[in-house]
Amino acid sequence: MEDCIFCKIIRGEIPSYKIYEDDFVFAFLDVNPLAKGHTLIIPKEHKKDIFEIEDLDKIVSVAKIIANKMKESLNCEGVNIYHASGEAAGQTVFHFHMHLIPRRKGDNVDFSSLKVIKVEKDEFEDLSSKLKIEK
Ligand code: AMP
Ligand code: ZN
Repeated sequence: MEDCIFCKIIRGEIPSYKIYEDDFVFAFLDVNPLAKGHTLIIPKEHKKDIFEIEDLDKIVSVAKIIANKMKESLNCEGVNIYHASGEAAGQTVFHFHMHLIPRRKGDNVDFSSLKVIKVEKDEFEDLSSKLKIEK
């Protein structure tokens, strides 16, 4: 995609701190990190979001490789994987990306302030029947 910032990064038209590349996947440091080493993993082919991407398994395999590398080289104690698909979910760059965030005890990354909502029993039943996938 001509105007996509992440496509430009893949093509080398915009600089990035590349940490991984293969035929399908590219990974680089997020320029506005939540923690040191915060990485974005993207498909090389432009796909907007989770609804468009086909080879999600390739992204996930690379996430595993990079998580291991983070543990080994940054001595992180854990990682968070974060992803947003769609404006409603907070996606701001519309080229699929998975955030991989190295975590240490006492860092200031705060996912815990997310608020849970109340769902009644009949709604749980309705939601589970709507979402149920038969195999
Ligand atoms: P999201 O809000 O989930 O769509 O994430 C988009 C991410 O892309 C943000 O965390 C930005 O900091 C990051 N980002 C935007 N432009 C660049 C860039 N040129 N290089 C690295 N990361 C970027
Ligand atoms: Zn793109």
